[in-house]
Amino acid sequence: MQSAVSSPAPEWLVAPDDVNDLVPAVWPASIERGADGEMIIGGVSADELVRAYGTPVQVIDEGEVRRRASTLRRAFESAAAGQGTTARIYYAGKALLNTSIVRWVTSEGLNVDVCTGGELEVALAAGADAAQLGFHGNNKSVLELERAVEAGVGTIVIDSLIEIERLAAIIARTDGDQRVMLRVNSGVHAETHDFLATAHDDQKFGFALGDAAAAVARIREIPGLVFVGLHCHIGSQIFGVAGFRESASRVLDLHQELLSGGDVPQLNLGGGFGIAYTRADDPTPIAELAEGIVSAVAEGCAARGIHIPALSFEPGRAIVGNAGVTLYEVGTIKDVTLEAGSRRYVSVDGGMSDNARPALYGAQYSARLASREGSPDPVLVRVVGKHCESGDIVVDHEYLPGDTAPGDLLAVPATGAYCAPLSSNYNHVPRPPIVAVRDGASRVIVRGESMTDLLARDAGIEL
Ligand SMILES: *Cc1c(COP(=O)(O)O)cnc(C)c1O
Repeated sequence: MQSAVSSPAPEWLVAPDDVNDLVPAVWPASIERGADGEMIIGGVSADELVRAYGTPVQVIDEGEVRRRASTLRRAFESAAAGQGTTARIYYAGKALLNTSIVRWVTSEGLNVDVCTGGELEVALAAGADAAQLGFHGNNKSVLELERAVEAGVGTIVIDSLIEIERLAAIIARTDGDQRVMLRVNSGVHAETHDFLATAHDDQKFGFALGDAAAAVARIREIPGLVFVGLHCHIGSQIFGVAGFRESASRVLDLHQELLSGGDVPQLNLGGGFGIAYTRADDPTPIAELAEGIVSAVAEGCAARGIHIPALSFEPGRAIVGNAGVTLYEVGTIKDVTLEAGSRRYVSVDGGMSDNARPALYGAQYSARLASREGSPDPVLVRVVGKHCESGDIVVDHEYLPGDTAPGDLLAVPATGAYCAPLSSNYNHVPRPPIVAVRDGASRVIVRGESMTDLLARDAGIEL
């Protein structure tokens, strides 16, 4: 046995030629190193950001969000135009929601998708046109639905029979119309390179394909509800188009059946487009994805002899994920000897409270020194947080410079999606601020929590 020379690194992780390199697919396009090796994001150096805002800090590159939003919109619009239809992009707000993000994406021509009353209030507070909003969710309350109808939300995506009746009662008290879609399960579940296609679905979202026609018939009976089409979302962090093609084909059978009872002008195929978290990830380029999905719908419609509907999509991660970088300060460092080599534990001043994805899903991330370039010798590390959980992992497997030391700044890329929204105060650690960078300037878009914030809800403390 050669256990002494083998390594606890996973197979996908290759020691880089340059342990200070910044792989373009993972970082915002603006990323660079300055004259002294310091990392610069959106024209602002990591040191400057940390001097101004402390650590940890969630940095969002505004230019990157805008560029990705407009790239997605143009790619789908042009693919749709090539097939004689239109496409709209709804930004899935749950990936990262605050009024600044809403303003950026709407000014790039996107609609916004929300799934709770709270998310709806943020979008409205940002001044978004309610008619451009979509509202999802499997358990929208009567109050949430009333608020959505009253605000004039463009499309409500119905998820259950009970919701149809709730909406019917609300709309009966108004004299307006409410456009609705019906969420269905295509039985296709996709994640990264694989998809699973089943006949029966064992999950909480939407209607089974076999139950949907009766639900649509009920919607069509209700004065004031306007059925506009089907909605289907097959998963997240999906690479390739095969899962989308299979799902579209199943949903089009139902779409065709519904045409016998009236118009079905739209089809929403959800989001889930994958991004690169590490150098091992190779997501399908957006233009290819758009062409692949839209052409599958067009071919499916041609084969059935039906008109291609107006299409919509709901990416979240693909717009904000790679625009986010979290900066931490390195605290303690510890080498742990294992049977197969050794692993260096690098502790930072955040963790599962600002990024729950590694603990929740075993998500992989990457990291680089941000305050400087380190020595060229790569050392296998696990970056961990400061919480009282051994699952409190920030970056499971990475190579960092051998001279990484306490006080260094560490940058974790691709933290723009599903980090801040899933953040917590576990162990009474305050949530970090969210800071936007663009063209050499930075500003707080969501302030960080203070100790006063942390104590404010404890009824036993007088502040
Ligand atoms: C989460 C979600 C999305 C966005 O998923 P991404 O992986 O961020 O693109 C879109 N639509 C629905 C219904 C969702 O639940």
